[in-house]
Amino acid sequence: TRLVFAFCEGDKDQKDLLGGKGANLAEMTRLGLPVPPGFTITTEACRFYLEQGREPDLLTVQVTTALRRLEDEVGRRLGDATDPLLVSVRSGAKHSMPGMMETVLNVGLNDRSVLGLADASGDERFAWDSYRRLIQMFGKTVLGVDGEAFGSALEAAKLRKGVDSDIELEARDLQALVAEFKQIVLVHTGEEFPQEPRRQLDLATRSVFDSWNTHRARLYRRRERIPHDLGTAVNVCAMVFGNLGPTSGTGVCFTRDPATGKKGVYGDYLANAQGEDVVSGIRNTLPLDDLARLDPDSYAELTLIMRRLETHYRDLCDIEFTVERGKLWVLQTRVGKRTAAAAFRIAVQLVDEGLITMDEALERVAGAQLAQLMFPQFDAGAERNLWTRGMAASPGAAVGRIVFDPATAVAWHARGERVILVRKETNPEDLEGMIAATGILTSRGGKTSHAAVVARGMGKTAVCGAESVTVDAARRVAVAGGRTLHEGDTLSLDGSTGEVFLGELPVVPSPVVCYLEHGLEVALAGVDESTAEVIRAVDRLLAHADRVRRMRVRANADTGADADRARRMGAEGVGLCRTEHMFLGERRPLIERVVLAADAEEREAALAELVAPQIQDFVDLLTAMDGLPTTIRLLDPPLHEFLPDRAELMVKAAVARERGEVDPNDVRLLAAVERLHESNPMLGLRGVRLGLTVPGLFALQVRAIAQATAQLRKAGGNPRPEILVPLVGSVMELHLVRDEADSIVAEVAASECVDLAIPIGTMVELPRAALTAFRVAEAAEFFSFGTNDLTQTTWGFSRDDVEAGFFAAYLDKGVFTVSPFETLDASGVGRLVDIATREGRSTRPDLKVGVCGEHGGDPESIHFFHSTGLDYVSCSPFRVPVARLEAGRAML
Ligand code: ADP
Ligand code: MG
Ligand code: MG
Repeated sequence: TRLVFAFCEGDKDQKDLLGGKGANLAEMTRLGLPVPPGFTITTEACRFYLEQGREPDLLTVQVTTALRRLEDEVGRRLGDATDPLLVSVRSGAKHSMPGMMETVLNVGLNDRSVLGLADASGDERFAWDSYRRLIQMFGKTVLGVDGEAFGSALEAAKLRKGVDSDIELEARDLQALVAEFKQIVLVHTGEEFPQEPRRQLDLATRSVFDSWNTHRARLYRRRERIPHDLGTAVNVCAMVFGNLGPTSGTGVCFTRDPATGKKGVYGDYLANAQGEDVVSGIRNTLPLDDLARLDPDSYAELTLIMRRLETHYRDLCDIEFTVERGKLWVLQTRVGKRTAAAAFRIAVQLVDEGLITMDEALERVAGAQLAQLMFPQFDAGAERNLWTRGMAASPGAAVGRIVFDPATAVAWHARGERVILVRKETNPEDLEGMIAATGILTSRGGKTSHAAVVARGMGKTAVCGAESVTVDAARRVAVAGGRTLHEGDTLSLDGSTGEVFLGELPVVPSPVVCYLEHGLEVALAGVDESTAEVIRAVDRLLAHADRVRRMRVRANADTGADADRARRMGAEGVGLCRTEHMFLGERRPLIERVVLAADAEEREAALAELVAPQIQDFVDLLTAMDGLPTTIRLLDPPLHEFLPDRAELMVKAAVARERGEVDPNDVRLLAAVERLHESNPMLGLRGVRLGLTVPGLFALQVRAIAQATAQLRKAGGNPRPEILVPLVGSVMELHLVRDEADSIVAEVAASECVDLAIPIGTMVELPRAALTAFRVAEAAEFFSFGTNDLTQTTWGFSRDDVEAGFFAAYLDKGVFTVSPFETLDASGVGRLVDIATREGRSTRPDLKVGVCGEHGGDPESIHFFHSTGLDYVSCSPFRVPVARLEAGRAML
């Protein structure tokens, strides 16, 4: 097998074998650009080495051959005593992992060739500078010497000389430094710095292989979801020198601004410097414009090359270059990383320049980037005072005064305050407080804890699991790092980084959200040109996604106001209306009465009182969604969630007994709570089980839906409700609910003299429902996958507990690369989705199938749902634009 390829033998499509850097060096060589010659050792050689712990047998010979060809081409020998060839040994994996792996420059220098280099270049200072760089870099990365040792020796040399910058050191100083560096190597490794050039090359190659598995490289790959078994290629490239005096230098440039996407070249340059100096920040760089002044010829050539590369790659390119005594060399190029705003702008610019199609432009932006553009941000220039740090659970920038309970959050919000709700953790009881809050901070729980999930759903900023914070809700204080905060103190949360700052940081709202909610015209008024360009780009790309996508996008919305917002964001219906909030707040005593009812009569009386407010709920919702399908889920959670806390009641009862003031109502309530207490409520009396056990409950809801529909229909509207039955495991459950529901709908239709056909479907959220879908579909007109519960019940772990528990360890050990609550577990849970969809449709070919779990707004999951043939995804209003974009991208 070929393990080594010369640059002139490859091309840009061989990233798997040659790595990104190697493939692009080959491509540029083919294009005739001024790339120093060299060769690439393949990723296959690296994989062999990593598996076997030794280089493949063929490697030595193939490297020798390639090296000789290189030497012949440039007419110099590696590490020769006169006019030596020097090379760089550079890492380069398939996926760019900037700064994660090693590169060694100036390989081939030793005590003799350094003199040859001085001679040939006529610059002694340069030769010694290059040699000290080699020992420093090689010592650190190949021989494992602590970099500090070299760093402080260099500092000491500058101090002795009384200079600030390393370019002020003269040849003599550098020669002395080389001696010192060699001594450091000897002391730290017990061996002399290797003098043999080929040995330097082989050791450097091996250390590049090894750098694939450093801790930081592994961490980076895990975060970026890059597989661990790809390995890196090694590029051996003839050195060119930017440190040959003032007419030399090195730089990095971009064909467009990667931060803003603004058109026009952009970059940094450093005269008389080598490689790493530009990024390492040891000296201040100059803007690229200064190169135009310093060296107009090189600048002109560079501009031409940038244009050529951009035309060739048809995308933003970033380029590393070096000027050696007025001669320009290109050392690297790749399609450049960019911010979300730049991605949208550049994609559309390239369309307008005729370089790519709209489809390609759509491929180049991602839902996650759109989501980023939708969150408000802290003003980057502001001064900040960090208090603590947690998990970046829901992005955005929130500033507010802290409160410790939901009631205070609601009260303060009502009087116009912005509040940050600080809790140990949150639960459904906190919902109103969370809605009122601008941001949420918890000291426990992870990225899929209740607080995080709800916050993301609402598009609200949250930092979760800030473990250093002790929350004392009773005393209304929070302590971290020895600093105590009281109710009313101001905090700034950055949900994109997990940082929490003391005091108020200035926030800038997202103009993209303004566009999504109010349209182009409103959003464009008064923004600067560059923001306007971002907004127009988002508009055009979303419109294109809408044109091409097959899946519909609906929103999860519980109220008319939510639905209204969702509709403005482009929702084509409601995929899930949760009705539980309709039983909280002031209606809660009514539910208590239903539960406490001594007999059927009392229960019916209590239920009857709920009918009118329920009708109003549905009228609001159906009005907002007029003309669009609106899926309403019947009551799902366990009843005890609507009753007071058991422990609290017990305390209250004990106190009352002591004082001899027992309230009979409290006694009944406690008895009911005891009766309904379950040790595992998520697997208990909830969903359809509740509907079949508490007579009249589902009937009440169905009646309210039918009445609301009739009322709107008569007023000339076009309400399109669909009834969703939760937690069905057997078709029998559904038949029972259906029988009652159908007759109620018929009854309302008759008494109101309107035609009412309200489809009834089921949530598929238990494995049994999925596995018997061919039966369930007999009684269901549609399926909606509740993938949160389906994930819990398929894996058998509870979302509310595992996050804080073993998930971190599982992620660490690689059982998951991402939480299955965040991205659908395609091979397990996804298989159930696939089976249920296919078998459901075999029973009922026109079965409508959608998804309404959190996964409906997750880009990767959306692609899965598309390929499984789902008709729609439903997600929180804030994710709707993201889902539209991704559903479009799924077609490409
Ligand atoms: P990274 O992947 O971290 O950018 P590189 O392999 O590109 O690492 O090398 C690090 C630095 O060394 C870059 O600035 C690059 O331009 C410079 N460099 C690499 N090879 C050479 C060479 N043959 N001649 C001059 N400079 C080089
Ligand atoms: Mg580089
Ligand atoms: Mg559920």
